[in-house]
Amino acid sequence: MAGNRTFTMIKPGAVRNGHIGAILQHINAGGFKIVAMKYTQLSAQKAGEFYAVHKERPFYGELVEFMSSGPIVAAILEKDNAVEDFRTLIGATNPAEAAEGTIRAKYATSIGENAVHGSDSDENAAIEGSFHFAGTEMF
Ligand code: GDP
Repeated sequence: MAGNRTFTMIKPGAVRNGHIGAILQHINAGGFKIVAMKYTQLSAQKAGEFYAVHKERPFYGELVEFMSSGPIVAAILEKDNAVEDFRTLIGATNPAEAAEGTIRAKYATSIGENAVHGSDSDENAAIEGSFHFAGTEMF
């Protein structure tokens, strides 16, 4: 059975471009409840750990540099079928391929600076949520 939680980050580019409010509104309008949230900045080391699965990819260095370049909003979201429904809400990794009206189609500027993160499985949603939040910070 699909889980009911996913993890997201509003990435530094979207924060710099002033899209925090609009993206949170889009998330709420999509039926997701925020059960944990913080405004924070990843160190290069923490960003490297978070994206360790991409270590061998050619864009890894660029990704780590970007994700640690400024503040992010990290959040855990709740909804039935959260992981899949949130991936639908945000759209494809490359904003040029993201469906019209999705968060990435509206607020991303490139495949690297693609506005938001969304977990790709229930297992990763739990790992990524715990990476950013203590149990006492989840409601
Ligand atoms: P996601 O699950 O849709 O976020 O996509 P992936 O797991 O494939 O990639 C993780 C993140 O790496 C993406 O959200 C992008 O920020 C970044 N990324 C993926 N492909 C590229 C690329 O070709 N170039 C750059 N610069 N970044 C990329």
